[in-house]
Amino acid sequence: MPTYELIVYGCQMNDYDGEKLAAIMEAAGYERAAEGDAADVVLVYTCAVRQSATARALGRITSLARVKKDNPRAIIGVGGCWPAVESDVIERACPHVDFTFGTTELENVPAALAEISGERGPSVPAEVSPLRKSWPRANVAIMRGCNNFCSYCVVPYARGAETYRPADDVLKEVEELLRAGFKDITLIGQNVNSYRRGEVTFARLLKKVDALCDGVFLRFITNHPRDFGDDAVDALAQGRNVARHLHLPLQSGSDAILHAMNRGYDMNRYLDVVSKVREAVPGICLTTDLLVGFPGETEAAFEETYRALEEIRFDSAYVFIYSSRPGTAAAALEDALPRAEKVNRLQTLAARQRAISLEINRGLIGEETVALVEGRSAKNAGEHAGRLSESKIVNFGGKARAGEFIAVKITAASPWTLRGELVT
Ligand code: SAH
Ligand code: SF4
Repeated sequence: MPTYELIVYGCQMNDYDGEKLAAIMEAAGYERAAEGDAADVVLVYTCAVRQSATARALGRITSLARVKKDNPRAIIGVGGCWPAVESDVIERACPHVDFTFGTTELENVPAALAEISGERGPSVPAEVSPLRKSWPRANVAIMRGCNNFCSYCVVPYARGAETYRPADDVLKEVEELLRAGFKDITLIGQNVNSYRRGEVTFARLLKKVDALCDGVFLRFITNHPRDFGDDAVDALAQGRNVARHLHLPLQSGSDAILHAMNRGYDMNRYLDVVSKVREAVPGICLTTDLLVGFPGETEAAFEETYRALEEIRFDSAYVFIYSSRPGTAAAALEDALPRAEKVNRLQTLAARQRAISLEINRGLIGEETVALVEGRSAKNAGEHAGRLSESKIVNFGGKARAGEFIAVKITAASPWTLRGELVT
């Protein structure tokens, strides 16, 4: 059998696409190359959300020139968000790349490979189930694309307009996962809150999935503060299996910057959503994304973000430095802030957040709770890692099997993880 290697960068949606692409390749008669073996086909699935992501992909793709040297018949394909927005850059910098493909063209990859090698294309079934490597967790896409055009973001150009999967398809995939023993299901989309298919809104879909997920953690990402309505708050609070975690990207604490970002909400709206969610689900884990150094972000605007972080007290926050992306509205704005100042702002937010995360996590010490065992601890040899409903990781010793829910008592905390012991 011909072999393939698949390298995936980026977000959960890319992971999901990677799992689908693997399934398509295997349905077409390819076998995954063993680690370290030369593959007949190398596929790189890319992210383009920040300049650093494309630089990383470029480095990897450049290094693949030696694959062609060793095996002139090898085929190299580059897919995902990057070729959708900068295929010219890839063509110029990487002449050894045989073909590129976008995020909606996964099914065409075997045919493209056949055409390049001059063989007859295999027939691939129209619907294949993603080949998941993440047990006991699994993602399920409920939508694709994004209509929001936040002024800094390349995703709407790379992934196109929003399309929503029929609710029945989503429910079927979730049922399959539950039958296969998955215990932690995440509905994914660039803005899941805008899901709408016929009469089925996001809140209704969440309720339908919740009804299937007895005794399983049910999650969803990513949310949009403009679109997270009262019906979604209710579905989150009333869902019996919906996990106690909300990822709600804020981006900036300054109304002027939020406006320039075309985010469609202001701080008042954001704080309103947060207070409703916290009232409905006391103690819910709240996480966010923050973007520093957006064009025009003054010292005063940055301080508003800092104050928002102090006021809201997120459980954790991903902080990014703005990078200009081709074709976006913000790319036309002057990006005058020196790099050192952007780094300084990032570190200032990250340090304050680290302290807040530690305070919040220390507050959990002594609590007894339930965790889903995911596997071995990455940190402590011989220990297990489990995930709480709040999505926090807890490391613990003793006997446990991946895929089972266990009771733990929290005994120690860091900003990022917890330690615990089994409760018997
Ligand atoms: N659809 C999701 C995720 C988008 S990408 C959302 O709206 O939240 C994930 C994060 O990357 C964003 O939340 C943003 O903080 C960051 N990001 C997007 N474009 C960026 C850019 N040009 N430079 C730096 N970070 C960016
Ligand atoms: Fe990008 Fe905004 Fe869409 Fe998120 S909502 S993917 S940040 S355009």
